[in-house]
Amino acid sequence: MSPTSKVQHHNKQILTEMRTQNFDVIRFATYRTACKLRFIQKKTSLSVVDIWNIIEAFRENGLNTLEPESELNSSRVESVLNSIYVHLNKRLPLSQQVDSHQCVQMLLNWLVGAFDSVGRGKIKVFSLKVALSHMCAGKLVDKLRYVFTQISDSSGCLIRSRFIDYLKDLLALPTAVFEGPSFGYNDTACRSCFDNRTQINVNDFLNALMADPGPQCLMWLPILNKMAHVENVFHPVQCEGCHRESFMGFRYKCQRCYNYQLCQDCFWRGRTSGNHGNDHEMKEYTTYKSPAKQIGHALKKSLKCVPKSNAHVPQFPNTPEKKLDLSYIIPPTPVPVRNGYHESSIVTSQSPDVLSIDSGNSPQSPSKLTESLNSMCIDDEHRLIARYAARLAADTKDAVSTIMMLTFISLTKFGSRDSNSTFNQDFIRHL
Ligand SMILES: [Zn+2]
Ligand SMILES: [Zn+2]
Repeated sequence: MSPTSKVQHHNKQILTEMRTQNFDVIRFATYRTACKLRFIQKKTSLSVVDIWNIIEAFRENGLNTLEPESELNSSRVESVLNSIYVHLNKRLPLSQQVDSHQCVQMLLNWLVGAFDSVGRGKIKVFSLKVALSHMCAGKLVDKLRYVFTQISDSSGCLIRSRFIDYLKDLLALPTAVFEGPSFGYNDTACRSCFDNRTQINVNDFLNALMADPGPQCLMWLPILNKMAHVENVFHPVQCEGCHRESFMGFRYKCQRCYNYQLCQDCFWRGRTSGNHGNDHEMKEYTTYKSPAKQIGHALKKSLKCVPKSNAHVPQFPNTPEKKLDLSYIIPPTPVPVRNGYHESSIVTSQSPDVLSIDSGNSPQSPSKLTESLNSMCIDDEHRLIARYAARLAADTKDAVSTIMMLTFISLTKFGSRDSNSTFNQDFIRHL
């Protein structure tokens, strides 16, 4: 089997498995797309890799030093994926290890199918970043903040052309699970996200993409992220469609029929019973509260004790945070030998100066700081020698000569700032 046909074979395999799940009978395109992408996420174990681990893998493989438009061949993409799963297995207990080889092959082939439709065997760095940062686990806000760093300029403003590239790559994900007709890229997609504003900062970007409802072309994205949490929510109520006693995931309640509730499988597939019809308005629930808790909540609400819920999207500084200028950091001075005496640490005393220079608030130049540090070291040595001499003096009869001897060592070692002092002359005469 040739490498290209091998890739196609592996990609076919994961997509065939996806088809057996029968997601296509889901009548809402947003949930259908989210279900399919969630299936790929879980199948490739990206569902247990956090966005921060993905960013770390990009850095480890040097992707942050490459131009976004540069292309990676399959073996380079394979190494990036491999490092993701090797690190994942290091974090997981032995009983939950993933088959890294299988995950790498499945994901590689799915990505090649999504981004290399002409079969050149190459994927753009930017496409790989967009795909992995959205297919992994983690908060949507963190994923979007990472993406914004890739598509904004140094003053923290969105670059329109980069946003279009981002949208094209992001919408290649639904297309790779045959949802292109609903969510494929087209010219109106970009216009649906932003109006004609010229400057879009990180908060504008997050507000637009995480709005409820958000842009039509991205409706599947928040649902995909929500799905990871909601699939573990237990509802101890009977589904009126399939008559299960309890179920997990999203729950839907009819706003017309009394206490009529459906599980996600029934609602998404249009299963009904009794007098309930698919044209009835339904409310979606992603949590379950027992009737007792519901009464408590209603009571609190009526007494206006319920705290205001937090804003939907957190706010971030509009301009990017300045990076530390590490060129000004002076390597720490080696701690001098202290003959077993404890003195206040030089490293500690220099720290505030180093920090203030680093933050750009200190008027001192780096060379001045080095000078002052050197003089601090010498003073410190002098103090130590004096104390050591005093201690020796207590043990010896010739205390004066001991002190003078040690002071001489000190002077010859570090030099005196006042070489004409009478002390020095007396000292030399004494010798
Ligand atoms: Zn059901
Ligand atoms: Zn109904």
